[in-house]
Amino acid sequence: MSRARVLRVAVNVPLARLFDYLPPDGAGTLVPGMRLRVPFGRRRQVAMLMDVAEGSELPAERLRRAGAPIDEDAVLGPDDLWLIRFASDYYHHPIGEVVAAALPAALRQGGPVAARVTALALTAAGRDADAARLARRAPRQAELLDALRAHSPLTEHALDGAVPGWRRSRKGLADKGFIETLEVADTPPPLAAAHAVPGPPPNAEQRQALEDLRAHSGFGVSLLDGVTGSGKTEVYLHRVADALADGRQVLMLVPEIGLTPQLVRRVRERIGIEPLLLHSSLPDNARLHAWRRARDGSAPLLLGTRSAVFTPLSRPGLIVVDEEHDASYKQQEGLRYSARDLAIARAKQLDIPVILGSATPSLETVLRCRQGAYRRHVLAARAGNALPPLLRLVDLNRHPAADGLSAPLLAAIDRTLKAQGQALIFLNRRGFAPTLICPGCGKIAECSRCDARMTVHAAGKQLRCHHCGASRPLERVCPDCGSACRPLGQGTERIEETLAAHYPSQTVTRIDSDSTRLKGTMDRALALATSGESQILVGTQMLSKGHHFPNLTLVGVVNADQGLFSTDFRGGERLAQSLVQVAGRAGRERRQGEVIIQTAFAAHPFWQRLMSGGYADVAEFALAEREAAAWPPYTRLALIRASAAERTAAHRFLDDARRKALQLDAAGVRLLGPVSAPMERRAGRYRAQLLIQSGGRQALHALLRPLRMQLEASHGARQVRWSIDVDPIELF
Ligand code: ADP
Ligand code: ZN
Ligand code: ZN
Repeated sequence: MSRARVLRVAVNVPLARLFDYLPPDGAGTLVPGMRLRVPFGRRRQVAMLMDVAEGSELPAERLRRAGAPIDEDAVLGPDDLWLIRFASDYYHHPIGEVVAAALPAALRQGGPVAARVTALALTAAGRDADAARLARRAPRQAELLDALRAHSPLTEHALDGAVPGWRRSRKGLADKGFIETLEVADTPPPLAAAHAVPGPPPNAEQRQALEDLRAHSGFGVSLLDGVTGSGKTEVYLHRVADALADGRQVLMLVPEIGLTPQLVRRVRERIGIEPLLLHSSLPDNARLHAWRRARDGSAPLLLGTRSAVFTPLSRPGLIVVDEEHDASYKQQEGLRYSARDLAIARAKQLDIPVILGSATPSLETVLRCRQGAYRRHVLAARAGNALPPLLRLVDLNRHPAADGLSAPLLAAIDRTLKAQGQALIFLNRRGFAPTLICPGCGKIAECSRCDARMTVHAAGKQLRCHHCGASRPLERVCPDCGSACRPLGQGTERIEETLAAHYPSQTVTRIDSDSTRLKGTMDRALALATSGESQILVGTQMLSKGHHFPNLTLVGVVNADQGLFSTDFRGGERLAQSLVQVAGRAGRERRQGEVIIQTAFAAHPFWQRLMSGGYADVAEFALAEREAAAWPPYTRLALIRASAAERTAAHRFLDDARRKALQLDAAGVRLLGPVSAPMERRAGRYRAQLLIQSGGRQALHALLRPLRMQLEASHGARQVRWSIDVDPIELF
């Protein structure tokens, strides 16, 4: 135990604790939120100062001295540090890794926060120089000198605009000692506001929702529970405009960056500003630029995906989480956080409102509304004159589907094309066919590294594993019996091929993660879809969310049955969400939409609920089921996962975790397992899991906190890859 003043820092290593250091020699004031370099093992690491404490558990002689601070001021403010601590505590994840997740890559690596750019400045000699004489001998140099006399320093960027060709005059003036080169902070002008066009006048339901939202200030969670096309986005935009008018910043989260172009266009039109985009596929420098403008307050509106929830804001006023039910908000590796849940925690800390929106709210959110913790605003009707789509089931036992498409679905496509409408054929399976089978001996092509079948991809005449990415050439004949192999089942490529053969005069546009991998292809495909030029669309989940295709009147669901018999307790909720979302693409403007769902289990009670009561009935039923079975949202879950090259190592680690948990105070929690993961082998590693279930949050966290520490320190932890997933959404 030492009494010296110590710095408690977070380092990007997989250990939960903070590390103590003595302050560097001669350092000025050090405040939490500054970065420093510290000696760590034999290396130096970038560290985030979390706390300055009076004393350490460690004896003074064991404390090392931190290196010089990287920043002159705190990079992260108290609220940002609070969020990092919260995420680390809640998800039981090493704090240094949370810091790393919250910072743009350049800052994580110790780069400067303030952008420095090169500028030219006038020297004293330059100020006194005889400009008239210079103008006679070197007119271009005189021009540059004049510009700098009017304003100095000028950045290279500004000079490019003011004095074209200035670079050629630089050396001459520098040699005369008239100018010098400096590094200055890059302070871009605030984003200019363009002309805003008012939207349609809000209808009665929108007015009611807006009135309720405006009646509450400070923290509160509101759910806009509105059918697809009910005008939720219009309501957000009104509240965004309110916050901006108050001089506050708004953070808007969307599940996927593919959805932003339409939203950006609407924001630009309605509010007259350019939202700043924040997502993980931005280049590092663009990301840093956006982060910086959020932090310094020069960007009023941030639009981003999951990771944007950590962006510092200088004057936050509102957070919007669009499509709050979407699984993309949950990060599935590393820091396994829910951006929606962190957005709510952050809004509470900041005492600002948060608006969640969905046509198919998660059961977690539905229950919170029932309990009165969230306010619910219902938009039951489509905005404008659009009608809700008509749903129809096609029983595949009565109408067999040749190549995936039944006669009633083909007839509906014919009708749609004749009426100049557009059809979207939805199938959540990319590739040509999910299976390659040998009709001779029944052999199925499997991945050599996973317990999974290979998917047939026609484009490259390949077999690909969707779990580990492995690929190999398609086997034409069976290696065991020599019969010709056959693709079995439907994927989007195959449906595309079938439709193209059926409708040779039509452009069939396929949108899935394979067809849109190349830069620009997604934009082109969406343009074809939105303009109506392509009348037949084929796509996965990617096409089912959020998009607005004005001409689309028919949605065909090729096969919904996978979801009916899911082993995951969330199966029903997920299936209903994806069907309602894709159905929501139909008939968004003048003509009423039609949705045809093909199923081999038309008598399944799920269909009765969905067809007669819609998502609300499915949710109601699912909630009752969850309550009876003590699943979330009525209980809390955490999943400890382990994987290793040998099966026994993964199990040994989790057996040990179970023993440790039982020795700790495990009152109020149930331990289920360890068991092998349902897909046990993946990418050559054996996977197992231990499920922890608890009636309440407190008991779960009281157990996980010490358990994490013990596991970290255990010998077995070095033999496996392991993780803790709090509020997991994939149990399998
Ligand atoms: P959601 O976000 O619920 O899917 P949107 O806000 O995108 O709904 O609205 C769906 C369509 O209805 C858009 O074309 C929008 O411009 C239009 N719309 C929204 N509110 C109104 C309104 N009050 N009157 C007329 N049209 C509206
Ligand atoms: Zn065979
Ligand atoms: Zn594989």
